[in-house]
Amino acid sequence: TLKHLRRFSTIKSIAIYDTLTDIYNRRYFEEKLEIEAGKSFYSGSPLSIVMVDIDHFKKINDTFGHTEGDKILCGIAALLKRSVRKEDTVARYGGEEFILILPEAGLERCCMIAERIRRLVEGTSFEVGSAQINLTISLGISHFPTHQTRSKEELVKMADQALYQAKRGGRNRVCIFHPSQDKEI
Ligand code: GH3
Ligand code: MG
Ligand code: MG
Repeated sequence: TLKHLRRFSTIKSIAIYDTLTDIYNRRYFEEKLEIEAGKSFYSGSPLSIVMVDIDHFKKINDTFGHTEGDKILCGIAALLKRSVRKEDTVARYGGEEFILILPEAGLERCCMIAERIRRLVEGTSFEVGSAQINLTISLGISHFPTHQTRSKEELVKMADQALYQAKRGGRNRVCIFHPSQDKEI
């Protein structure tokens, strides 16, 4: 359980934190989602997943090097963490992908939070060596009970589909899952 994981992780914090960015890792995300989804599917309370992916990050690595790329990942992680409430969860999902769990918020509020984060990143200059660069992120949202599912895996897949739509639509945008996108689910 999460409590168990937390207790033992005081020694091995590596178990729940991502070693590069210091935010929660994927393993913690999965544990936390299990708990939040359980609560929401049982009581009907809202639950949202926001998938975040840095736009054209490969180009940043190619131009400035992997070490500078790593610093940007840390900067984005810190920015995401600062942008949510304490009851929300921010985790590194993979390479340059992050994932948010937003419990107890309606779809509209989740969109507002995602859009605020998108704008914040767009307006932030990141230091790379002696230069300052700007970058953007794309975000995909799924929401319970708006998107009718009782599977946490499907909720994540729907956020991923929405993220894919945001990329396809030109990046630097927030997309909400729409059932017409669910062909691959
Ligand atoms: P898109 O807008 O479609 O997301 O383009 P992209 O270049 O961001 O996407 P792509 O998936 O092609 O590339 C992701 C890049 O992220 C490639 C990989 O080198 C980089 N990356 C993944 N993990 C890390 C990491 O831990 N550190 C650094 N510096 N780069 C990473
Ligand atoms: Mg990616
Ligand atoms: Mg990317």
